[in-house]
Amino acid sequence: MSEGMRIRLDRTVCDGFGICAKHAPGYFSLDDWGYASLTGDGTVAEPDRDAVMNALLDCPVHAITEIGERSPHLASPPSGTADGAPAENLKIEANEAEWGFTR
Ligand code: SF4
Repeated sequence: MSEGMRIRLDRTVCDGFGICAKHAPGYFSLDDWGYASLTGDGTVAEPDRDAVMNALLDCPVHAITEIGERSPHLASPPSGTADGAPAENLKIEANEAEWGFTR
């Protein structure tokens, strides 16, 4: 089940292009110099998702990021095996020929 989209805006990165406010004026406001602020707490209503996603994707400096959604591949631990022997997958000196460690 989806919890909806949430975004954040890093104002230290924003370079004042104003593109976000053109795409989704209900979510971004611009100050006198064109720098953006989030309007609201970053929660995006489902009908506005495409507009906000366009703002996120078109921001030239990637100041807008999506938060609060988990990637499906993170649902399970990133390493280990189903039989409970995670140490077998470790990349160590003893098996470096298998995983190609270079010095
Ligand atoms: S598009 Fe990006 S750089 Fe431009 S005002 Fe919005 S957040 Fe700032």
